[in-house]
Amino acid sequence: QVPAETTLVILGATGDLTRRLLAPALYRLWARGHLEGLRLVGYATSEWDDARFAQHLEAALREFVPEFDPSVWERMRGQVQYLSGDLSPSRLAALRGAVGTKALFYLALPPDLFGLAAEGLGQAGLNQEAQGFRRLVVEKPFGHDLTSAEALRTQMHRYWREEQLFRIDHFLGKETTQNLLVFRLANRFLEPVWNAQHIAQVQITYAETLGVEGRWRYYDRAGALRDMLQNHLMQLFTLVALEPPSVWDADILREHKVEVLRSVRPISPNQVDAHAVRGQYIAGSLRGQRVPGYLQEAHIPPSSTTETFAALKLYVDNWRWRGVPFYLRSGKRLGADYAEVAIAFREVPTRFFGEAPPQHNWLVFRTRPEECLELWAWAKEPGLSLRTHSLVFEAPYQRPGDTSYTAYEQLLLDALQGDRTHFLRFDEVEWAWRILEPVLGAWVQGQPESYPAGSEGPVGMGRLMDEGHAWRPLGRN
Ligand code: NAP
Repeated sequence: QVPAETTLVILGATGDLTRRLLAPALYRLWARGHLEGLRLVGYATSEWDDARFAQHLEAALREFVPEFDPSVWERMRGQVQYLSGDLSPSRLAALRGAVGTKALFYLALPPDLFGLAAEGLGQAGLNQEAQGFRRLVVEKPFGHDLTSAEALRTQMHRYWREEQLFRIDHFLGKETTQNLLVFRLANRFLEPVWNAQHIAQVQITYAETLGVEGRWRYYDRAGALRDMLQNHLMQLFTLVALEPPSVWDADILREHKVEVLRSVRPISPNQVDAHAVRGQYIAGSLRGQRVPGYLQEAHIPPSSTTETFAALKLYVDNWRWRGVPFYLRSGKRLGADYAEVAIAFREVPTRFFGEAPPQHNWLVFRTRPEECLELWAWAKEPGLSLRTHSLVFEAPYQRPGDTSYTAYEQLLLDALQGDRTHFLRFDEVEWAWRILEPVLGAWVQGQPESYPAGSEGPVGMGRLMDEGHAWRPLGRN
């Protein structure tokens, strides 16, 4: 339940994020009784009125919420309001009449407007917490590189304290991501083996069959490293590698995540090729269909060198992890929609039973194609000889009857309730950029390696692997 008389203001309420993700998340929270009494104010430059905005929301809900129930919408609609204006303080000041003492401003705006909006709201006095609270939710991306992220921070901090800022990384709202923490910290048997002595490597993968779709404007400027690795995969990496906190507290947890990022061995500019691989898809075949290459996609400049695939190898130079490679990769137009965090335990010291290498035990947290946990172990193959075969213990993450919440539902509710655990503190963003600076610098020049659409990625990604390691296939085999 959110505090009584809270107002959620969405700046950018006529945009795609609101339509596809925020509105459905708010509807579901409303339907489940979490948002009774919340007022929702939409804000954008389109000159709409309340009725036009309500119409727009209803159409979005009918499109994106299969279980849409008009009676829930009737309740929600009564709380919805729209104001039109730009980000000048004089126009934003109109919001003063629409919000009470408790307000959350959600910046669902083009990223180059985040700073302007934060300043405008501040200049209009909407940052001031007399009683209650004033919070600002900031979407991704937070900057384009270290310099721009720092500039954006300075601009935001002019009017907002760090404690008022909620930087979204929606991966942190996902069930499997949160389970990574819970499974690790709630099971005694894991901690003794969660270290370099027993873990050989970690692979974090987010593979998609989708191309750039409608996101070409943003994506061609960003590329896979900025779009996926700097934020989402780097967050998963910190959750695997962090020291167990002694107290469950948002700041202590985030402190531990920053500690991991600060312990990452810096990639020296002349070592980039040994730590990072980039690729760009060319025409290929996906599920029997021919698909065009990146450079043939609508609106993409034919000379674009933007990477649609990025892979990284990181080492954490601390007592727990020294020598263990963490491999991160993400790409578009790959052969499967497949995402997982896979942890490989070291092999046994003796091979009595004729196992063919490599014989890791894998612990896998999978999100795509379905959410599940897997443990790969070796057991005796039935028969006369003492040979091994692999057994996979698989547990679907959800049981029938479980209620699950999407990432945006989780995070909206957290932000409304003031829980910052699953939001990024600035130093997390900053250190993630710091790690990538040498790679971004090196990739300004040269070309990404080509890979056919529908494949597992560029062949060159194999060069990141330490001896005896190989990328896991995109799909169970
Ligand atoms: P979008 O469709 O372009 O929407 C932008 C919104 O901002 C529109 O409502 C636009 O409305 C409003 N706007 C633009 N200039 C404005 C101004 N000067 N003053 C007030 N409002 C203004 O963008 P989006 O896809 O929704 O993305 C929004 C943010 O979410 C971005 O930061 C993006 O990176 C992030 N994000 C989006 C997605 C997604 O799936 N779409 C996913 C993850 C993160 P008017 O034209 O009416 O002013």
